[in-house]
Amino acid sequence: MTTVALLGATGSIGKNTLDVVARLEFKVVAMSAGSNIELFAEQIERYQPELVSISDAKYAEVLANSLKVRLKKLPEIVHGTAGLCAVATHPAAKIVVSATVGALGLLPTLMAIRSGKRVCIANKEPLVMAGELMTLEAAKHGAEILPIDSEHNALHQCLRGENKREVRKLILTASGGPFFLTPAEELAKVSVAQALKHPTWQMGRKITIDSATMMNKGLEVIEARWLFGFAADQIDILIHPQSIVHSLIELIDGSVIAQMGKTDMRLPIQYALTYPERLPLNLPRLDLASIGRLEFYSPPSDRFPAIQLAYRALRLGGLAPAVLNAANEVAVEAFLEERIKFTDIAEVVKVALDRIETYGVGRVESVEQVLEEDKATRYFCNEYIRTRIR
Ligand code: MG
Repeated sequence: MTTVALLGATGSIGKNTLDVVARLEFKVVAMSAGSNIELFAEQIERYQPELVSISDAKYAEVLANSLKVRLKKLPEIVHGTAGLCAVATHPAAKIVVSATVGALGLLPTLMAIRSGKRVCIANKEPLVMAGELMTLEAAKHGAEILPIDSEHNALHQCLRGENKREVRKLILTASGGPFFLTPAEELAKVSVAQALKHPTWQMGRKITIDSATMMNKGLEVIEARWLFGFAADQIDILIHPQSIVHSLIELIDGSVIAQMGKTDMRLPIQYALTYPERLPLNLPRLDLASIGRLEFYSPPSDRFPAIQLAYRALRLGGLAPAVLNAANEVAVEAFLEERIKFTDIAEVVKVALDRIETYGVGRVESVEQVLEEDKATRYFCNEYIRTRIR
């Protein structure tokens, strides 16, 4: 039986992964969650893993009490980063699904790679912060990295069987988010509620704001660079409001191959879990005739400076992408707490990149070094927001 360890069980990818795992009759041997104890306890009762991890010791106790009334035999309960790493390296797990939010996933994802497992990555941070390290370690330990992020999963499908030298370009599609048509001068005034209204996908708060600024697409460009080994100028972004074409590749002869599907993450999740096999998946089918029209536009970079910032970080290399990611996380949180304006998000990221460019971007040699830079950037950005904005 195929066995799975799941990092981030209670988030939107986690819930969809458990649905797919149940359909495939795979076994969940370990899983982790942050603080949603009630849902996590229900999931543990249903999937009966051997090992579970929760964010901290306090929650571990609450979880244990909640499980005592549900189960005869409790799973082993661990917590914190060590707990996440224990889930990621569980000896019985063949596949690890990495779907935590933010920088938290970096170390456990690397540990899963080092234990030579198939690692299905849904969170962008490990590849954005330390993409080169992740791919080098994967090659060294014979680990397979399979993307769940819908665009990269689409690219993986398009690239199947193609010779990389015959591929001219990767083209990531973007819905454009809720503000694709909003004039630049109005963006400074948009509210948190408006930014949280994504037109096509249901996702967590952080990634929904990233879609509204289009930083999400910028992070995806960096992710694609490491997953598929193409240079920054071979990766393009195309606005496609319907989110039906999940991404495309252009070949040297001009032929373009696209992957299409409904906006349901269970398809990319199952693809990553069962690759290279394809298995039936009983979900509503894509009905192109009822959709009728697919539209495409070039991204308006003046209104979405986050895209250019991401390309800049990728070209700078070294620790710059980790800085971009940390600065963006701090800025998005500040926006969600209404401490800064929507348009300040890109400004915070820009000053953080200016800073690392001045100090020198270095080379990424270890996760510890990346986490240190992550911490320094967060401190710098919080100070910047506190003292320079408002
Ligand atoms: Mg995506």
